[in-house]
Amino acid sequence: MSKHKLKLALRDAWARLLWVSGLHSLVQRCSAPRVLVLAGHCVSAPSNASLSKDMKIRAADLERILATFARRYDILTMGEAAERLRSGRLARSAVVLTMDDGYADNLTHLAPLLARLGAKATIYLETRALTERRLNWTHGLFLLLDHMGHERFVARYRALARDERGVSILEETLRLRGGDTYHIKRVLKYEVDRLDRERVLEALLSEEGLAASELCERLYLTWEQARELAREGHEIGAHTESHAILSRCSPDEQRREIEGSRDAIARELGAAPASFAYPFGREWDWDEHAARAVMAAGYTSSTTTHPGTNRPGADMARLKRVMIDEDVRLELLVAEACGGFDLLRRLGFQPPA
Ligand SMILES: [Zn+2]
Repeated sequence: MSKHKLKLALRDAWARLLWVSGLHSLVQRCSAPRVLVLAGHCVSAPSNASLSKDMKIRAADLERILATFARRYDILTMGEAAERLRSGRLARSAVVLTMDDGYADNLTHLAPLLARLGAKATIYLETRALTERRLNWTHGLFLLLDHMGHERFVARYRALARDERGVSILEETLRLRGGDTYHIKRVLKYEVDRLDRERVLEALLSEEGLAASELCERLYLTWEQARELAREGHEIGAHTESHAILSRCSPDEQRREIEGSRDAIARELGAAPASFAYPFGREWDWDEHAARAVMAAGYTSSTTTHPGTNRPGADMARLKRVMIDEDVRLELLVAEACGGFDLLRRLGFQPPA
């Protein structure tokens, strides 16, 4: 057994033990209060059928998770949780549900589910999708790969791209990994020139006759729908304008993305957002300059996608979140929320994500 598999097995066994034995409630009582922030995108629905399963969570799974937590934890919005973390007045552990990007199912499928539970969520908007009805490049890529297949996609990318180094890495990846969408996306995310990428993907979409605007219309909220979510008591946060990888942006571009999404929400909803989430969210997807720019823009918190929980005194510009999707397992979330995984971390064991 590889070391990674052994670690996964240990993590799973510990979480299972806590859950099945009920020991998690004892661990929770003995642990200092903390905030677990859940991070999802979509609730599985016809509108998002074309998205991969790591982009969505089944309604029944989400309802069970939130109903379980509601018994022992406060369910807060990110803004409320940030206030308690900042002031140090966190009397009881809390769970926050955040949803990234701003998908239409957040209104049609998530909101009714939350209404049944009496819970509120924080929805981080990629504002250009609402304002200009323009998809970010990842959705364009998935559409193209689906339509063209990986080999033809890479061949056409080669024909249109100016970025020789990036294309070589793309071809090498296709040779080594074949039709693996994750690795193709990874190369386009980190290895190619991003302006060239935007240009080539736009050109390919039109070459293939794919109307990205129709997908955007189906997938994303409108501003009116965002206002409806806000009227129902959900918090609307910001997630940049174009879902940019902030670490790859110049300081000026960072400021435009961070302040532009703030201003769009303020204009459309009548109040500036308090909460921000870094697109993609890993520590190499943003940097110190971006973190400072977020706080300077008036946000009270910014969330990453590094797993763990948050305690009072946490750095508000780098809060941790745990991803949820169709493979979600309640016992792993409970082990994190109750402090069970932090116990392992204190013993020097880092549970793998
Ligand atoms: Zn996102």
